[in-house]
Amino acid sequence: MNFSDSEVVASILKNKGYELTDNSKDASLILLNTCSIRDKAEQTVRNKLKNFNSLKKDNDKLKVGVLGCMAERLKEKFLEEEKIVDLVVGPDSYKDLPNLLNEVENNQRAVNVILSKSETYGDISPVRIHNNGISAFVSITRGCDNMCTFCVVPFTRGRERSRSPESIIREMQELSDKGYKEVTLLGQNVDSYLWYGGGPKKDFIKANEEKKKNSIRFSQLLDLIATSFPKIRIRFSTSNPQDMTIDVIRTMAKYENICNHIHLPIQSGSDRILKKMNRLHTRQEYLDLIKKIKEIIPNCGISHDIMTGFPTETEKDHQDTLTLMEEVKYDYGYMFAYSERPGTYAARKFDDDVNNDIKQRRLEEIINLQQKHSKERNQRFIKKTCPVLVDKSSKKSKEFWSGRTSENNVVVFPKQNFSPGEIVDVTIEDCTSATLIGKVKKKSIAI
Ligand code: SAH
Repeated sequence: MNFSDSEVVASILKNKGYELTDNSKDASLILLNTCSIRDKAEQTVRNKLKNFNSLKKDNDKLKVGVLGCMAERLKEKFLEEEKIVDLVVGPDSYKDLPNLLNEVENNQRAVNVILSKSETYGDISPVRIHNNGISAFVSITRGCDNMCTFCVVPFTRGRERSRSPESIIREMQELSDKGYKEVTLLGQNVDSYLWYGGGPKKDFIKANEEKKKNSIRFSQLLDLIATSFPKIRIRFSTSNPQDMTIDVIRTMAKYENICNHIHLPIQSGSDRILKKMNRLHTRQEYLDLIKKIKEIIPNCGISHDIMTGFPTETEKDHQDTLTLMEEVKYDYGYMFAYSERPGTYAARKFDDDVNNDIKQRRLEEIINLQQKHSKERNQRFIKKTCPVLVDKSSKKSKEFWSGRTSENNVVVFPKQNFSPGEIVDVTIEDCTSATLIGKVKKKSIAI
């Protein structure tokens, strides 16, 4: 999401005459787009800021700004705590950057952290940064209304609102015209997408009958995008179990160009902990959803987010997480130790009472189990041939391409005459827990 937002910022600044540079020594302005999701993410930002001290000494015109969630969370306090910072801009205020920069250029420090009620950047064509010309992100919703008790996102990114289908299609068309092959639709909770003419999702209920009747949900948006851009591979992230509908799964199954992969965070396998997290589903409801996904898309890649050591988590709760992982057998996952975030319900009401060693030990156990499952899951591809979108050289060997299957597995294979951006049929011969290794038996036709 931050990556995508930075592209919006680059577009706004391009219109103010700024150019991108890869070398911070050449920069007159450095913007750090920040994340607040865990304390470690914030510490990383603070360490980065320290590195800018010497750059500022060498170049007294250099200005430093912080964008994103940490800017929103800390507001003016950022200026007090980090003297190097000239500019603090929250995720919904990037259109104000030209004005804020005028202040900063006059040696004032500037702050704008006002959150918005409507889609903020629908009309902007992002400048693709560090892109490979193959895959791009397209934002479809902003903010989040879910109020998971551990999560800072609703406070830093505001209320949930959806972007108009017209502006999404316009951005998709631009990408298609430029030859992009894959788009990931982005939102904190994509399944909750709801366009009814604009405004916060929570106000839909107050909308008139006409607007309600013509409203568009995520499955309909997916359908529209898949039919409008049959040559583009479509992915989306993130799905929330309580909001994902069968219609979405059926739409995925209906279209070849919607990838067979669902990122479906669970956080914990314990009903007691799920309830305390205000995740609005039970373990069983989640498992039922997984069952439906596997029925409708048998080969679907499924990944997860899990965190260990949420307040009061016992060994029994932790075991519930491990057994849930055994039941689902995920392809891969993102795993974290709980990090208390100031201002969240959990920080206000619960003691962060699982000690760090225990959190880390449990984390290690789930990571080890996931690695075992990833390897087992990857083995199902051996001897199979799958279409792979080539995106870059393999990190380990310049002789190999790296790409992804529809299920989102990384595949490496000898380069031969293939090029990035091609969809190639690769026959898988071996695998590790992270990578499929294959070779091409015949040249394929791009979808
Ligand atoms: N709405 C997004 C949230 C992104 S945060 C989504 O559903 O993907 C990604 C993951 O970070 C969450 O799923 C959760 O597992 C983890 N996370 C969020 N808050 C956290 C916290 N306070 N401590 C540790 N991990 C956290």
